[in-house]
Amino acid sequence: MPKIYLDYAATTPCDPKVLRAMLPYFKKDFGNPSSIHGFGQKALNAMSEAREALADFLGCDAPEIVFTGSATEADNLAILGTVKAAKIPALPAGRQKPHIITSQIEHPAVLESCRELEKRGAEVTYLPVDKDGLVQVLELKKALKPNTVLVSIMYANNEIGTIQPIQEISEAINEYNIQKTKSVPTGHLPQGDKILFHTDAVQAANFLDCDVKKLGVDLLTLSAHKIYGPKGVGALYAKKGTLINPVIYGGGHERGLRSGTENVAGIVGLGQAVKEIQSPNYKIQNIRIRQFRDKLIKNILKNIEGSRLNGSLTQRLPNNVNVSFEGAEGEAIVIALDQKGVATSTGSACSSGSLEPSHVLMALGLSEETAHGSLRLTLGRTNTLKDIEKVLKVLPVIIQKLRKISGYK
Ligand code: PLP
Repeated sequence: MPKIYLDYAATTPCDPKVLRAMLPYFKKDFGNPSSIHGFGQKALNAMSEAREALADFLGCDAPEIVFTGSATEADNLAILGTVKAAKIPALPAGRQKPHIITSQIEHPAVLESCRELEKRGAEVTYLPVDKDGLVQVLELKKALKPNTVLVSIMYANNEIGTIQPIQEISEAINEYNIQKTKSVPTGHLPQGDKILFHTDAVQAANFLDCDVKKLGVDLLTLSAHKIYGPKGVGALYAKKGTLINPVIYGGGHERGLRSGTENVAGIVGLGQAVKEIQSPNYKIQNIRIRQFRDKLIKNILKNIEGSRLNGSLTQRLPNNVNVSFEGAEGEAIVIALDQKGVATSTGSACSSGSLEPSHVLMALGLSEETAHGSLRLTLGRTNTLKDIEKVLKVLPVIIQKLRKISGYK
C-alpha cells in the first residue's frame, strides 16, 4: 500500500540536495572546525558558508547567527539567556523581578523555559488568544510594564497553523521602548530596560518572510528538520548588541553562546535547506500546497457533519489543517488512518502520547471532549492530488465507524 505522509509539522524528509551537501562532512571532510589544520579549516569554511546562507535568508549579518542542537535549545537560549543577562534597573521595592510576556499557545520549548524562570523568581504573563488562536495586540500592550524584559510570541503555531501579527507586536514593543527612552536622561536604554522581542519561526520558515528587520525582532528561532534538513540542528538569530548569557558552558564555541563541537554536517544541511526554501521551484510548490489545504478543509467541513476547523481561516499556514469531529476520538482517527496508509497526528508531535488535551486547543476555548476529537493534517512537498483525494475518501468512513462505536447520535 503506498504510504501518504501528512505530518510535515512533526518533521520533514531531508531534501536530496541537502543530503548531498552534508555527506562529505561525515566522510572525507570530517574535521573539527576548532582545529587549525586543513581538515579543521575545511569544516570551519563549510560552517561559515552555512552561516552566510542563514544570514541571507533572515536579512541579517552572519555573526548574528548561533548554531544550536535543536530549536528547543535555541528557544531556551533566547529566553533563559537574555533574562539572565538583563540588568533590571532600579525599581520600586518588590518590582525588581524580571517580567516576561508570552502566549498560552507557545511550543513547550518556550512555555517550559518560562515556567523554569518563574521557579527562579521571574514573573510571566501568559497572554490568552482569541477563538482563532490570535494574540490580541491591545492585550499585549496592556501587559507591558517597567520590569518587562522579554516578549516571546511564536510566528506560526505548530498545531493550528495560526500566524501571529509579529510586525504589529514589534511596533507596539518599539513604541513602548521609545516612550521609555524619552524618560532616560542619557537617551539610551540599557538592556533590561529595553524590551527584547523573540519569535519562534520554526513552523513559519517554509512559507513566510523571515526577514528579521521587516519583522522587527531581536531574536528568532529556526529548526533544520522542519524545513527538509536534518534532525538535531537549530539556530538562533540574536541581533548584534543583544546581551545574552549561555545556557551551556564549555569550550566557548559559537562566540561562547553554545559550547560543544558543532554538528558540521547538520549545520551544512541547515544552510542548504534555507537556500532551497528560496528557490522559485519551492515557492510554486507552496501555492499547490495551499490549494490542497483548501480542498481538504472545504470538503471535510462539507462532507462530515459535526466537524469544525480549529484556528483561523485566513491567518493560517498554507499547509495546516486542524479539524475536530464530534463523537470521534483523535488518537483512534490517527490509528485508523495509519492502517489505511495515511500518517497524520492529533496535535503536536511532542505532546502526542499524552492524555492531556492540547493546551493550544483548550486556549481557543474548546471543550476537553472537542479537543480530544482533533486531527492535524500538515502538508508538504511530496503530497499529490491523489493523496488528498484518498484522505477525502477514507476519512468520512472512519469517522462514521468510530461514531458508531462511541454511540454518537
Ligand atoms: N518550536 C516549534 C513551533 C515547533 O513546532 C517545534 C517542534 O515541534 C520546536 C520548537 C522544537 O523543535 P526541535 O525539534 O528542533 O527542538
